Amino acid sequence: MNELSENHLPDNADKPFLTLDLAQIALDSANVGIWIMDAVSQKFLLSNRTKILFGFSPEAEMSFEEALLNVVEKHRRSVLAAVDSAIKHHTNLYIECPVNLPSEKKPHWLSITGGFNDSDPQNSYFSGIVIDITEQKQNDLRRSKFIGIVSHELKTPLTALKAYVQMLNNWARKQKDTFSIGALSKVEKQVRKMLNMINSLLNLSGAEAGKIHLTKQMFNLNELLSEVMEETLFITATHPIVIIPCETMPISADRDKIEQVLVNILSNAAKYSDTGTPIEITCNQDEEKVTVSIRDQGMGISPANLEKLFLPHYRVERKETEKIDGFGIGLYLCSEIINRHKGKIWVNSEMGKGSTFNFTLPIQKS
Ligand code: ADP
Repeated sequence: MNELSENHLPDNADKPFLTLDLAQIALDSANVGIWIMDAVSQKFLLSNRTKILFGFSPEAEMSFEEALLNVVEKHRRSVLAAVDSAIKHHTNLYIECPVNLPSEKKPHWLSITGGFNDSDPQNSYFSGIVIDITEQKQNDLRRSKFIGIVSHELKTPLTALKAYVQMLNNWARKQKDTFSIGALSKVEKQVRKMLNMINSLLNLSGAEAGKIHLTKQMFNLNELLSEVMEETLFITATHPIVIIPCETMPISADRDKIEQVLVNILSNAAKYSDTGTPIEITCNQDEEKVTVSIRDQGMGISPANLEKLFLPHYRVERKETEKIDGFGIGLYLCSEIINRHKGKIWVNSEMGKGSTFNFTLPIQKS
């Protein structure tokens, strides 16, 4: 196996390979490793820095399989799947994964990026860089811990506030005090919106720390669908929402988190479609799973954006969406929550015609 040369400037500065060595030295100083993989034989060509970043000595041989063995076990399968898929579909590669180093107790986080080069059909290859992002990951973790603590602290008084406002509202209704009913309904609407946002932030900090805790209970999905529909109509009464009822058995899942998923998808359906256009909720059950679909008649999503919608902080950049607020975390959270339940989430969409977001939840057989 060849290795990219490094460490010293060649004697003859006129030789064409000088450019490569200069680039190599610059990459080394920036602690950037480089790698090239033959698309057919999957042979690996590496810089010494890449080996060091994967916990090998510069003199050691390092195959792709050996590098993979140093990736923390629970991340190996997803790394392999990402590499396989990039090779199969000739797409770009972007992986973040923790790697165990022999000299250190805690794993280091690496970012591995790459692209496919097939300008010469006889000799197509993947190439890319590896960088150490441990510090950035630690900062992300600190930030999400902070968000987690703050949102948790905010949630408790806000939940109490919601209960008191509801009580006052009921009392005003009994007194037939129309002014108070109007004002308190508005307060309640805003409090519920804030609670939804805080729940999203709480879930985000959990997801970023790699731990969404599920508190499962048996519940009837139909009931939850009706509750969420009423909640959405209460907060945004801009679209008629129809539920096509289906027979569902009680399922075992985290009710609050599935509620969050439904709230996110339903509020998106309202956000990204014209006022007055209908939103339809359907559900279907077979022996293994229940499938929920939420269809809108809104702006739709282009095929290029469909793949990326579930990535954190991804928002579609279009003229129509630039005035619509959002952080691009709703769908990322939905997919994390559904994946934790071992379900699937996907979207079908046609530009200008609308979108259908679907998810499944497995049914546990007793
Ligand atoms: P946010 O809505 O806060 O930006 P999401 O993660 O919920 O974040 O959604 C990501 C992106 O997906 C949105 O910015 C929007 O462009 C697109 N999107 C989501 N739902 C729909 C929908 N029903 N119709 C059209 N586009 C949608």
